Amino acid sequence: MKEVESYQGFELGPIRPPSEARSLLLRITRNCPWNRCTFCGLYKGEKFSIRPVEHIIKDIDTIRHYVAEIQNIQAREDGGTHRQLVALHSGRPSGEKMAFHTALNWIRGGMKSIFLQDANSLIIKTDYLAQILTYLKTSFPHVERITSYARSHTIVRKSDSEMIRLAEAGLNRLHIGLESAADAVLDFVKKGVDKKGHILAGQKVKRAGIELSEYFMPGLGGKKFTRENALETADAINQINPDFIRIRTLALPENLVLYKDCKEGRFAKLGDLQVAEELLLFFENLHNITSMVKSDHVVNLFQEAEGRLPEDMEQITAALKTFLAMQPEGQMVYMVGRRTGLFSGLSDMNSPELLAQAEKVIANHGLTPGTVDVFTADRLKRFI
Ligand code: SF4
Repeated sequence: MKEVESYQGFELGPIRPPSEARSLLLRITRNCPWNRCTFCGLYKGEKFSIRPVEHIIKDIDTIRHYVAEIQNIQAREDGGTHRQLVALHSGRPSGEKMAFHTALNWIRGGMKSIFLQDANSLIIKTDYLAQILTYLKTSFPHVERITSYARSHTIVRKSDSEMIRLAEAGLNRLHIGLESAADAVLDFVKKGVDKKGHILAGQKVKRAGIELSEYFMPGLGGKKFTRENALETADAINQINPDFIRIRTLALPENLVLYKDCKEGRFAKLGDLQVAEELLLFFENLHNITSMVKSDHVVNLFQEAEGRLPEDMEQITAALKTFLAMQPEGQMVYMVGRRTGLFSGLSDMNSPELLAQAEKVIANHGLTPGTVDVFTADRLKRFI
C-alpha cells in the first residue's frame, strides 16, 4: 500500500520566471517529471512528486492567514512596527517563517498574481488542478493572473475541453520552454517533444484563451544546427503566434550533460557573435504574428531586443544589427562589458567610464577577438 505523505509545512520551489517576481509562489508539484533535457541542470538528482491537494490547500490557508495578520498590523495608525511583524512568526517552524515572508513579499508586490511551481503543473489531473485553482480564486478573489510552467508534451495530451476548464477555473497564463522547434536539436538535447508537438501545444493553449509565453534558446543547436534552430523555431512561432516570445540564450555550466557533450566534441558551442547572428536570423523570419518579444534575462547579450511585433521589428533588431556591423575589437569590448555585468545594453558603450573598465578587463586578461569566447562563456555560466 502506498504510504500517505504527511504535511511538512509550507514549501517553495527553486525558480520562477523573472516576470513573476511580484507573484505569490505556490508549490504544487516538486521538481520536473521529465528531467532529461541535457541543457538543464535545475532538478537533476531530484525526484518528481505531486503534492497532495490537501497540503496545497493548507499552504493557501497559511498564506491567507499571514496576509490577514500582516494587513492588520499595517492598518494600525502608526503603520505597524518591524517588531510587530517579526512577532507574527517568531518561534514558529521554518515552513511558517517561509510562508510569512512569502505573504509579506506578495503584499509588497500588490497581490495581483500567483505562480504555480515547479516545472510542469499541467501534469496534475485536470480535476485536481481545477480544484486548486478554484480554491485560490475563492481565497484571493482580487487576483488577476494565475500562471505556471508547462511542457508541450503534457499539454498535447490534455483535451481542448480540459484546457478550457482550467482557463475557466482561473489559469490564465502558461510559460512553455519551447527552446527550439528544430527536430534535430530537440532530439539531440532530449527535450522529449518534436516541432509538431510544440505547435499543437501552443495552439491548444491559445484556443483555450490562456495567455502564452514561449521561450526560445539561441545557441541550443550549436554550430551544426544554428540555421535550423533559427529558421525552424521561427516557423513554429509563426504558426503559434504566442502572446510572448522570451529569449533565453544558452549558458553551459559544468554540471550539464550538454557541457560534457561539448567537452567531448559532440556539441560545438556558438560564441556570442554567432548567437547574435542566429538571433537576427530568427527575428527576420518571424512573419504575420503579434507577439511581444521580451529579453528579460541576464544571459541575453541584448536586453534591448524587445518590443511588439510587427511594428517594433526595427527596434527589436537594431542593437543586433549595430553590434554585427562593429569591428571585432568593438564587439569584444561589448561582449566583455556585458558578460562582466558592466553593460546592460549597447548604449553603455557611450559611457567613457564603463568603456574604460571593460578595456581594463580585456587588458588584465590579455583578451583578443580570437580568445574572448572562452572568457565570456565562463562568465555566462555564473549567471545560471
Ligand atoms: S522539462 Fe524543463 S525543467 Fe524539465 S529538464 Fe527539461 S528544461 Fe529542465
